[in-house]
Amino acid sequence: RSKDIGRNSYSFFTKEMNQQVSQRLGIETQLRRALSQHEFHLAYQPVMDAASGQMVAVEALLRWNNKELGFVPPDRFIPIAEETGLIVPIGEWVLREATRQVAQWQRHYGLPLRLAVNVSARQFQGEGLLPLLREVLDETGFAPESLELEITERLILNETASNSEQLLRIHEMGVSLSVDDFGTGFSALSYLKRFPFRVLKIDRSFIRDICTDQGDASLTKAIIAMAHGLGLHVIAEGVEEQSQEQFLMASQCDMLQGYYYSRPLPAADIEPFIQRFQQQANTG
Ligand code: C2E
Ligand code: MG
Ligand code: MG
Ligand code: MG
Repeated sequence: RSKDIGRNSYSFFTKEMNQQVSQRLGIETQLRRALSQHEFHLAYQPVMDAASGQMVAVEALLRWNNKELGFVPPDRFIPIAEETGLIVPIGEWVLREATRQVAQWQRHYGLPLRLAVNVSARQFQGEGLLPLLREVLDETGFAPESLELEITERLILNETASNSEQLLRIHEMGVSLSVDDFGTGFSALSYLKRFPFRVLKIDRSFIRDICTDQGDASLTKAIIAMAHGLGLHVIAEGVEEQSQEQFLMASQCDMLQGYYYSRPLPAADIEPFIQRFQQQANTG
């Protein structure tokens, strides 16, 4: 009888595993052709200034629509793109496309709109990132001061000389560095002092229950105070309700991002936001 159970759970396990492996393979196969098939586009999500209520930046978020798999969310395909190295050419495309688009908005609307782009640890391997950044900024005429690269604690965790060196060079170019998903890693906090970060983004898992969970409320306040003490700006991610906004404003959070303001939207759909921002800027 115990043999039966053993056999059953074994076959159940392999079936699950087979399914996962073939799903993964399917994604990987399609992912290899996605760039040349023009299957990617970018969504943009507004980042709001807490004090003025104005949109001060957009975060570019990668979207993939495949004709066989349909819409595949980033959390499914980005890890595979990272493991296979495909994130390097894909990340290059993201950087080129996002700076091209936002440079166009800046010119058209005459606004100092900032752009945040997510960069994977894998893109720091090899020596390609810096020359790429220089080339892209040159070609698009994008001001380095308006560009922010979001990296997660994982990159900092595997602190190699090369990573540290590249972060410093990027900072010297005038491009800003942000810590994304802050609070979800397990790294010592001292890196915040050692690396030239400008912005700290509090992960949305802390923001979700900020109004009901005393622990999350305290942690969020402490993170904001610590960041300000280090001279960093703070963005709260995943703001979905007015009550969260109120709490964060009262806690001196600098910038806010989340569905409460807007979901990430295709370029054409984000333009009304920029227009409104332009009108506010003109009327003071
Ligand atoms: P992230 O950089 O932390 O981006 C924020 C994620 O939270 C986005 O998910 C966004 O749609 C979602 N979000 C924003 N506001 C809210 C909210 O109020 N509530 C909830 N529940 N979610 C909200 P998305 O677009 O699915 O991206 C997931 C992750 O994939 C990103 O997390 C980022 O780590 C990665 N990613 C996306 N685009 C790129 C890219 O171009 N390059 C790299 N390397 N990674 C990317
Ligand atoms: Mg991000
Ligand atoms: Mg994040
Ligand atoms: Mg994330």
